Amino acid sequence: MSMEIMETMEGKIPRLPDLFVWTAEGVKIRSAVCRDCNTYFFPEYHAQHRPGCPRQNVERVLLNNRGRLASYTIQHYMCPPPFKTTGDITPYGIGLVEFPEGICIAGLIMESDLESLKIGLPMETIDYTLYQDEAGNDVVTWAFRVIK
Ligand SMILES: [Zn+2]
Repeated sequence: MSMEIMETMEGKIPRLPDLFVWTAEGVKIRSAVCRDCNTYFFPEYHAQHRPGCPRQNVERVLLNNRGRLASYTIQHYMCPPPFKTTGDITPYGIGLVEFPEGICIAGLIMESDLESLKIGLPMETIDYTLYQDEAGNDVVTWAFRVIK
């Protein structure tokens, strides 16, 4: 990986490890691709090859920072634990973003105007602060927002 990719960001701690990184081009989801069957995986260690694949050529990759909204729903109730946020974020969107690589990833949609959401909108991956830990760090997850 190049120097501009950061596994950590000062003052921010991923809620779950090894799922995304910060780069000069924004937050990028960590994935892996099998060059034999051209299947992308997420998380990168969750390998689901196509039947008959020799499973030999798996490579870690970062997904594009941008994709398109493939599907979404608007939630009017909080996610159950272990999901944790400071305060009530309802209503909020959960979307499936399709990346240029062809894989779809689900995540929170950070958009104040949920009524404006439409399938096909250009989206970008961001980080989102769920809560602060006792040391004052932001505990973050990946999320998506509409590119305006
Ligand atoms: Zn494969």
